[in-house]
Amino acid sequence: HQSATWQQIAAQAAEEQPVEVEPVTRFADLATRGLVHPNIVNMLTRQMKLEDMTDVQTRTINEALSGVDVIAQAKTGTGKTLGFLIPTVQRILRSDPTLAERARGNKRARPDDIRAIIISPTRELAEQIAVEAKKLLAGTSLIVQTAVGGTMKKAMLMKTQREGCHIMVGTPGRLNDILSDPYSGVKAPKLAALVMDEADRLLDQGFTAEIDQIKTHLPDPAEVERQNLMFSATLSRDVVELVRRTMRPGFHFAKCVDE
Ligand code: ADP
Ligand code: MG
Repeated sequence: HQSATWQQIAAQAAEEQPVEVEPVTRFADLATRGLVHPNIVNMLTRQMKLEDMTDVQTRTINEALSGVDVIAQAKTGTGKTLGFLIPTVQRILRSDPTLAERARGNKRARPDDIRAIIISPTRELAEQIAVEAKKLLAGTSLIVQTAVGGTMKKAMLMKTQREGCHIMVGTPGRLNDILSDPYSGVKAPKLAALVMDEADRLLDQGFTAEIDQIKTHLPDPAEVERQNLMFSATLSRDVVELVRRTMRPGFHFAKCVDE
């Protein structure tokens, strides 16, 4: 531990809570410090065999776990997926701790239990995110569904009805399609997190209108505490504009590239 500054000591005294001086950099410490449910941390350390966070993970997970919105800029291959999955999953579990255990019996989630939506520019990336999320959630009863173009919408909706869905990962067109369809049965009145992965690519590929449309189908951010997380390799003017329209005041910018 670094030596605490006078202000940190003062804050500690006032709140009678330990002030963590250094950010967590090891996945195991997320559990020992009580920041992330041990069932999730076990998957990271025992199943996925991960020890240390990458730079972008350290700089997004610590901030996002405190509840603020985060925009992170980092290169491909730096581990951004876990950078948004870990705080998103923890946010859902904090709102409903019973979901942290494996479901017993016939307990099913309903489609209106969607707590997080992850928007990805391509079908392949959306499917990769869903695979990673399912690994992370193997010890819990959280359910992940994908909503991507080029697949049968009806079959996807039936699967979602049958299995439930807490985290929906998809491409902008299909997500907008099912959220705007009153007969899809897919709603998100309790949405706790909205993630936009590869924001630069989402905008380059012309999905601005779909993203804006998706937002109109989500609950009013004034009524649900929705956390917004955005990840991008580059920060174009369009990305900056999307940040301005999406992020809540006090958001954190994790710039993990040197320019
Ligand atoms: P990005 O989205 O930044 O391109 P990914 O999230 O796809 O990167 O991760 C790239 C690879 O790094 C994946 O194979 C992932 O399993 C691995 N990875 C992620 N985090 C870590 C870590 N902390 N330590 C080692 N490998 C990691
Ligand atoms: Mg990625």
